Amino acid sequence: MTDMTSTRILILDDDPFMLKLLSTMLTQFGYSQVRGVENGAEALELCGAPESRPDLILLDINMPGMDGVEFVRHLATCGYRGCLILVSGEDTVMLQATERLARNQQLRVVGALPKPPSRDKLNDLLGLCDNEVRAKAKTARKTYGRDEVAAAIAQGQIINYYQPKVVVETGAFLGVETLARWMHPHDGLVFPDQFIAVAEEHGLIQDLTRAVVKGALNQTRSWTQAGLPLQVAINVSMQDLGQIDFADWVVLQALASDVQPRQLALELTESGLMHELSTALDVLTRLRLKRFCLSIDDFGNGYSSLVQLRDLPFDQLKIDYGFTHNAWQDPKLRAIFEASLNLAKQLGMEVVAEGVEDKQDWFFLQTTGCDIAQGYFIARPMPADAVLGWSKDWQRRLVEERLVGGASPPA
Ligand code: C2E
Ligand code: MG
Ligand code: MG
Repeated sequence: MTDMTSTRILILDDDPFMLKLLSTMLTQFGYSQVRGVENGAEALELCGAPESRPDLILLDINMPGMDGVEFVRHLATCGYRGCLILVSGEDTVMLQATERLARNQQLRVVGALPKPPSRDKLNDLLGLCDNEVRAKAKTARKTYGRDEVAAAIAQGQIINYYQPKVVVETGAFLGVETLARWMHPHDGLVFPDQFIAVAEEHGLIQDLTRAVVKGALNQTRSWTQAGLPLQVAINVSMQDLGQIDFADWVVLQALASDVQPRQLALELTESGLMHELSTALDVLTRLRLKRFCLSIDDFGNGYSSLVQLRDLPFDQLKIDYGFTHNAWQDPKLRAIFEASLNLAKQLGMEVVAEGVEDKQDWFFLQTTGCDIAQGYFIARPMPADAVLGWSKDWQRRLVEERLVGGASPPA
């Protein structure tokens, strides 16, 4: 974490000695807004009020009274959507249950800190809790209305960030996923979970998609001209596919930008029941015929993914973050991951694993036959002008960290 003075940290632990120890460490690291409480109810009260809501909570999951699982269940209802570090003894079952529950509620679990806590480990975890996550935590509960989102689109405040994707086997830099960000004049960087749903609800999503697609195609052309012929993926809403002219529009835009259809992937997430299936089928089939890549996003999460696989002509499957991260150590996740991978392979599809967050996730992928990897371990979403620099750094990491080619197993 960079701006230590403004980061509010709450420690919840029933053991006063542990509270003292952790707050001393945090103060020594330079964090000035640290508060410790001994029971869940008091912590929830602080989290419920915007003026005292922390950016990060260090949570002891084994407490008498309200335990960690119960606490996390209440957290989302009081408006907290920030980061969590789980502080625990040896109970891995509780740890995993709490972590899963937290993720379900959009809380970001940065990691677990074993007791007794080590300074180095704590420092590492704090480092992970970077700007992006904190920005998300801070703006998470602010709701924006139709007019604000409409104005943002009209005024060009929605800009594209890009997250690199690489080939698992070779580490080659293959392409990027385009992720919309709102450069809000007062609130700073606002994440898609704060405006995509608003845009969909108020009929603004087509305008947003069109702005994102145009930006992404222009950028693709620039990269290609600079000798970096990247594949670019964009996220498409179901509502876009309800427009019968969407396929023709995409074709025209690609032509105008001199981008080959194979360079553009359309990622599709099911966010509700598909009302206009026949229109969507028409649009998708035509895009597929024109050789654009169709990708099913967040596979395994949400509505009827199997039905979509049956009905729609996808060529790529993206395994959801929730099944990739930690699959190396969790037999249940691994089973789901492998089943999704095998299913996709049997259907002749290419597979992207999302949510490759750490070295263990990466080396796990090396053993699986998964084609493409995406996630924080490789790169975070970034502005277009940071991509080239990242690419050079990644080449260096491939060698220095020996990331490919009979790679070393995780320590
Ligand atoms: P998505 O398409 O599944 O995008 C991947 C999300 O996972 C991104 O969140 C990305 O920042 C995040 N992510 C990437 N690597 C990791 C990782 O290793 N661990 C974890 N925990 N997360 C990771 P982001 O940018 O907040 O976007 C959220 C969702 O908003 C996207 O999910 C997508 O469904 C939607 N979205 C973003 N841009 C657009 C857009 O232009 N149009 C539409 N319709 N939806 C968009
Ligand atoms: Mg996506
Ligand atoms: Mg996804």
